[in-house]
Amino acid sequence: MKVILLGAPGAGKGSQATKIAQHYAIPHISTGDAFRSNIAKGTEIGVYAKSFIDKGQLVPDDVVVRIVDARLKEADCAKGFLLDGFPRSIPQAEALDRLTDIDAVINIEVDFSVITARLTGRRTCRCGESYHISTYHKDTCAKCGQPLYIRDDDKEETIKNRLEVYRKTTEPLVKYYAEKGVLYNVDGNRSIDEVFVAVKEILDRK
Ligand code: AMP
Repeated sequence: MKVILLGAPGAGKGSQATKIAQHYAIPHISTGDAFRSNIAKGTEIGVYAKSFIDKGQLVPDDVVVRIVDARLKEADCAKGFLLDGFPRSIPQAEALDRLTDIDAVINIEVDFSVITARLTGRRTCRCGESYHISTYHKDTCAKCGQPLYIRDDDKEETIKNRLEVYRKTTEPLVKYYAEKGVLYNVDGNRSIDEVFVAVKEILDRK
């Protein structure tokens, strides 16, 4: 099963990705997590990517495509994978088409007013887990115990840029995949569990 999760920042891609990857036993590939891990380790890619990420801009396509290409060639991706946060532009989608085929693109639709509230209240763990201050009141991760932090790109000014980048550069992918007949829209203005029920209904038919 080869799946892409599409949706604006804060649509809940990460939360759904964790559940989908676990339920269908496929690797979860998050380009955002890959960059954050490179930044934490201080690698060359990390230093380069940070300059774009902190401004709410996209990391250039060639860098992202190289990371995904290498990851898809690893043995655990042979039985399928879940892409979270990639592709984010038409050139990235075209590059992905040259690497592999895709069974389903799940597009999580959330109102923009909801998204801003979600992102400003988001607390993230280095293990990739994230929480919202309205429902989670501890400052350490329930899964691994590490301290939670506010992503630099979850600051209000950066959020505005990210949403604009999404509208201009990423949203055209909805039409791109609809035309290929693999797009499935899901209403993301609901709880994580309710959205997951809808996602499962789609993927179980695949
Ligand atoms: P995310 O965790 O998916 O929200 O990604 C965090 C940031 O990493 C994004 O705002 C981008 O700056 C960068 N990033 C992640 N995935 C991509 C991608 N596919 N293309 C370009 N930049 C990306």
